[in-house]
Amino acid sequence: MEEREFFDERPEQRTHTLTCPHCGKADEYPIAWLVRRKKTSLPRHADERDRARFAKAQSYMVRRDDMVGCKNVRCRKRFEVTTLQSVAFL
Ligand SMILES: [Zn+2]
Repeated sequence: MEEREFFDERPEQRTHTLTCPHCGKADEYPIAWLVRRKKTSLPRHADERDRARFAKAQSYMVRRDDMVGCKNVRCRKRFEVTTLQSVAFL
């Protein structure tokens, strides 16, 4: 059984406060995540091994945005999202 069958997948946007490394200004940015929420139960064709893996599985989200454009009109430079982890558990 594939790991992705354990989860319901949904894109979500979350707001994070990020600081631009070029101008030092902090602002709120919408960041795209792919949220994988653990299903409430396994499909019927799951075997014992799948059940054990499913028991350990945890909902998590994967960050999809790596770069944002600075909101400061005097800067406007793009910078990498380094302060947020790329995978976060829910
Ligand atoms: Zn900036």
